[in-house]
Amino acid sequence: MVKCPNCGAENGENSKFCKICGSTLQTETQQTDTLHQQDKNPALAAILNLLVWGSGYIYLNINTILGVPSFAILGLWIVWAVLTHFLGLAVGILGTILSVVFALDAYYKGQGEAGFL
Ligand SMILES: [Zn+2]
Repeated sequence: MVKCPNCGAENGENSKFCKICGSTLQTETQQTDTLHQQDKNPALAAILNLLVWGSGYIYLNINTILGVPSFAILGLWIVWAVLTHFLGLAVGILGTILSVVFALDAYYKGQGEAGFL
């Protein structure tokens, strides 16, 4: 049953107009969709997509972009984030090893020894 927003009369599920007063009726799903669209903050959607790809689309209830599911774009971001993390870790470890090698080499050379570089 759909309740008329104007007079409160109960109307059939698929009625477009109230049988009592003739007001336009909205089904519950149409009302929810309208509410959701009004609720969404475009700046928040942009920031979400900036930080975590696809999350802004999920926030906007957009399921696919260019035929790709929004969750797949989110998955791509997770893969990218994990790869970047391990790449950063590897570069960091390599840099630390080089620092130790240069430090030890300078120490040995400072003592008049050959060092290893
Ligand atoms: Zn009515």
